Amino acid sequence: MIAEGNIKTIDIDKSVLQRIILPNNNSEVTVYLKRDDLIHPEISGNKWRKLKYNLLEAKKNGYGRLLTFGGAFSNHIYAVAAAGKIFEFKTIGIIRGEEHLPLNPTLKFAVESGMELHYLKRSIYRNRNDKNFQAEIAEQFGNVYIIPEGGTNNLALDGVAEIIDELYVDFDYIFTPVGSGGTLAGLVYGLNGKKNVVGISSLKNGNYLNQIVGDLLKKKLPVAPDNWRIICDYSFGGFAKIKPILVEFVERFYSLNAIELDYIYTGKMLFAVDDMIRNNYFSKGSNVVALHTGGLQGNAGMQSKIKKLTIENYYD
Ligand SMILES: *Cc1c(COP(=O)(O)O)cnc(C)c1O
Repeated sequence: MIAEGNIKTIDIDKSVLQRIILPNNNSEVTVYLKRDDLIHPEISGNKWRKLKYNLLEAKKNGYGRLLTFGGAFSNHIYAVAAAGKIFEFKTIGIIRGEEHLPLNPTLKFAVESGMELHYLKRSIYRNRNDKNFQAEIAEQFGNVYIIPEGGTNNLALDGVAEIIDELYVDFDYIFTPVGSGGTLAGLVYGLNGKKNVVGISSLKNGNYLNQIVGDLLKKKLPVAPDNWRIICDYSFGGFAKIKPILVEFVERFYSLNAIELDYIYTGKMLFAVDDMIRNNYFSKGSNVVALHTGGLQGNAGMQSKIKKLTIENYYD
């Protein structure tokens, strides 16, 4: 059973706030990293924040099975599989595209954690957020609690908003990576008009996310705050795309702080913060909090991509 007490299996106290050094840090801007990557080795970062109230809701309503959607390298799929194992839910993962054997490290972990995988052609997977499509799926699988791709829904925002109470330094900006927009929306919701919230999109054409985040906020707040923005200039060519300069940054960051970043989300976000410091985006004396959303499981699947980077695409 998952109850508030069981939530202690997830050690929120480990998510400390740590001052970090960025290559372009000058004495005028102070940057702290909120270490949500340390919450749990398997249900890392924002995926736990977004799942928490969904799991409680599923238990409350007597659901024994969770069903969700994701790509083959999805941190969310990994987290739901782990959460199922820990909190005793059966889990079903609907995976975009075809099966590739041997399974990659993400899906191998999911299966080993007891998740049942089903693959959907991309043309059909496209309907994943459609209400009728979800109803069909629910009928096909029986009594399942459906969590959307990326874990982003109304209840996800409640979990993310709890981060705000854990930020015990005075800050002007909070940064988060953006995929589906749920984490950004949760932070804006938690701050309710205070401070500045900046999302760094991991997707190249992430402008549609403004609408999505706006819609999520409308459901939560009578007056949607406007103290947030999404920046799409640091996608490095698109989702899960990397460049040597990003890989170098992640390595440099590790050498300066002994903190691991992932290449899809947190690496791009901190690259952005560093670049924006260099471009004088922040005024003197600004305090910036960056959210380490976790996602380190994905690095195992990135290794072959990193090896393939050659000098030719260095300046792409
Ligand atoms: C899923 C994920 C994100 C994106 O969060 P959204 O709420 O989907 O925008 C950011 N960072 C990491 C590490 C993630 O796994």
